[in-house]
Amino acid sequence: MIGGSIAGCATARVFQRGGFEVDVYERSAKDLEGRGAGIVLPIALQNQLIQNGFLMKNYAGCALQQRDWIVHDKSHEGRTLWQQAVAASTHHWGALWRALRVHIDDDHYHNNCELLDYHNTPDGVRFRLSNGQEQQVDLLVAADGYRSKIRACMPWGSESDYAGYVLWRGNFEESRVVDRSIIKRMDASQSWLSVCYEGGHSVVYMIPGLASDSAETQRRVNWAIYTQPPVDLTLDEPKSVPEGCVDEALYSHLRDLLNSSFPPQIADLIRLSPCEEVSLQPIYDELAVHFCDQRVMLVGDAAAVVRPHTASGATKALEDALTMESLLAQHDDLDTLLEAYAQERLSACNALVDIGRRIGKAQVEGTPDWSSMSVTDFELWNARVFDGQSLYLYADDQDA
Ligand SMILES: Cc1cc2nc3c(=O)[nH]c(=O)nc-3n(C[C@H](O)[C@H](O)[C@H](O)COP(=O)(O)OP(=O)(O)OC[C@H]3O[C@@H](n4cnc5c(N)ncnc54)[C@H](O)[C@@H]3O)c2cc1C
Repeated sequence: MIGGSIAGCATARVFQRGGFEVDVYERSAKDLEGRGAGIVLPIALQNQLIQNGFLMKNYAGCALQQRDWIVHDKSHEGRTLWQQAVAASTHHWGALWRALRVHIDDDHYHNNCELLDYHNTPDGVRFRLSNGQEQQVDLLVAADGYRSKIRACMPWGSESDYAGYVLWRGNFEESRVVDRSIIKRMDASQSWLSVCYEGGHSVVYMIPGLASDSAETQRRVNWAIYTQPPVDLTLDEPKSVPEGCVDEALYSHLRDLLNSSFPPQIADLIRLSPCEEVSLQPIYDELAVHFCDQRVMLVGDAAAVVRPHTASGATKALEDALTMESLLAQHDDLDTLLEAYAQERLSACNALVDIGRRIGKAQVEGTPDWSSMSVTDFELWNARVFDGQSLYLYADDQDA
């Protein structure tokens, strides 16, 4: 298993339970848990992961039941345009990673080990690691994320598409909030707040703290803002500006947007993230071409990259793992198993990439005149965006 993040840990567990001897090689020298922020999962998936023993019984997220679409109208809170039913739960990325990581014995999880290259052999795969080791295995699983080296070496290669816009992100502990009226507003209807403006929109929601298995846990405010990139920023490769690297000049673009387009109540909340805690990420996506090449299989972001609008990065990775688990119960032969996995996941993942593109086009690249829209306009516009396809996030689609 190359990559020990969400996809790597979940898939390692699946193969271990299927009777394989599994080793996970992770490039990072340190634990990953401190680096993530908020993610969203379908409630049904969360329950399935608990039921199947991937997450402990008391594992909990924060419930989300509604998305409030808000426009700046010079009032303090802004005007709510539409309330959309949602059924999902939010999680701390680090808590989810840790919950999956505990299943892998430390002797089989190797930090500071980067895959350098690999080649297929008649009876499996041979690969080289940065620590000088060379290994021969029956199956190599690429869980090495959105810039997968393994995928790039496959016959179809790797080509991510830059969407032309960026995502600002931040999160901080709830105790930082002095005027708690906005927290009460979100808690009252378990809602996620979306401010909409020309050329983008934002999301704000609560997530559990890192120790989400403890009643003492302090929640965090998680926010993200989609907008056009500053004109002086060159984004010719899918590389983020991580926390600690956003300078004052770059941060001033975010500040200008908050001043011009956000209701003060929500702008004040986001301003609680200082420059050094904010990150900027260009939005890319990538269709899956195939999920397997001989004895090498792709999972998670290594297989396909979806835009964050779909809130599906972790969901997709976990579904890859669960699909493999159910197929393992049906197939003894490894090659047949891999073919069945590839067939099952390809169309599901590409449908998500497609929805992400359509949402991005409607909600960032070509935003409507939001403030003139009635509830009916909103519903019709949203139905056109989805064009009959469903996304787990929205309650109306739960049975689809
Ligand atoms: C530290 C971290 C924090 C994240 N935080 C968030 C978040 O807050 N919100 C969110 O929505 N998404 C977050 N993501 C992305 C999210 O995890 C993925 O979109 C999704 O869960 C799919 O995960 P993945 O395991 O396929 O890929 P990733 O999570 O990207 O993991 C890929 C892993 O492979 C390792 N790797 C890469 N190349 C090599 C190599 N050559 N050899 C060995 N190891 C290699 C990387 O170090 C990484 O740990 C984060 C990813 C990481 C790594």
